[in-house]
Amino acid sequence: MNISYREELKELSPYKPGKPIDDVKREYGLKEVIKLASNENPLGCSEKAKEAVKAACENLSIYPDGNATLLKEALAKKYNISTDEILPSSGSDEMIDLIAKTFINKGDEIIMADITFPRYIATTKMMGGIPKIVPLKNYTYDLDGMLKAITDKTKLIWLCNPNNPTGTMVSEKDIINFLDKVPENVVVAYDEAYREYVTRKDYPMDSIKFVKTYPNVLTMRTFSKAYGLAGIRVAYTIANKEIIENINKVRGPFNVNSLAQIAAIAALEDKEFLQKCFDVNVEGKKYLYDEFEKMGLFFPPSETNHIFVDVKKNGNEVFMEMQKRGVIIRPMGGTFIRVSIGTMEENKKFVEVLKEVLNN
Ligand SMILES: *Cc1c(COP(=O)(O)O)cnc(C)c1O
Repeated sequence: MNISYREELKELSPYKPGKPIDDVKREYGLKEVIKLASNENPLGCSEKAKEAVKAACENLSIYPDGNATLLKEALAKKYNISTDEILPSSGSDEMIDLIAKTFINKGDEIIMADITFPRYIATTKMMGGIPKIVPLKNYTYDLDGMLKAITDKTKLIWLCNPNNPTGTMVSEKDIINFLDKVPENVVVAYDEAYREYVTRKDYPMDSIKFVKTYPNVLTMRTFSKAYGLAGIRVAYTIANKEIIENINKVRGPFNVNSLAQIAAIAALEDKEFLQKCFDVNVEGKKYLYDEFEKMGLFFPPSETNHIFVDVKKNGNEVFMEMQKRGVIIRPMGGTFIRVSIGTMEENKKFVEVLKEVLNN
């Protein structure tokens, strides 16, 4: 072919999702397969969200509200902020893209961790930015290392707290100390996809005050994890008005579909469901910690719905062997795997199969 593609695409490869459950069933002739690979909510989503979506199916021929007015109003009320400080998106995935399109010029230096959410580096490269990788320290974001990596070419810093895939977090005190030192012209994109699962008291649960104090900070939250709405694609960012106005220039006019807007509003109101998800996650985490300890496997403590664990064998092989036995997890390079915390039944099945594979 004679057509040429953007130079930046040479650096990229398409995202390879794990196999869907039905494919694994067919391939290995299994009746039952569990997936603990994508940090999905094992309890599904709020029944209220489901009911709201069903009712909204009557209006599928109508374009969504491109301004997501009702969702913005619901969020503004909940967090006591103004609607022009909020921007809903089709998942945080889309927001990460939009942030990259809003800020990154070719040649800008973009700071991120080595083991973190892969969309940060992908969108950085897509825009011709230069990734500056700061290794985790003790499986945790090295904020001092990130400060040291700042130069006059630095444009943006991706920060995931707590981190996917290691599950570790940095404290409010450390973040404030960090933000105090980041120059005002450097954007900090703060991703808190797992905030609802955090148990530690020193976590900055009120990140909105960062946005208020530091005009260069924006915070991203999603309905995909604790709210259990990964399939419908809805998230939002909070930032000062000027940043939101500029992101609005690059987003598609109807980026959040109508069912997603309705589901998110209903989900926000269902505090009981959120609490149940938190409780089940705490219980599952404790069970898995105990089992890993009994098996002599190392894991950094997790503040999320997943655990990053050293299985002391090639993680890819462990993944393949577990998949054959009907349990899908995520290999993480080297001897680490990441397992999402499931229902107790799923956790037990996972442990049983892991033991079988590791003892073979
Ligand atoms: C899952 C995840 C997201 C993406 O969530 P969506 O809203 O489903 O796009 C963003 N950031 C991190 C760190 C995640 O783990």
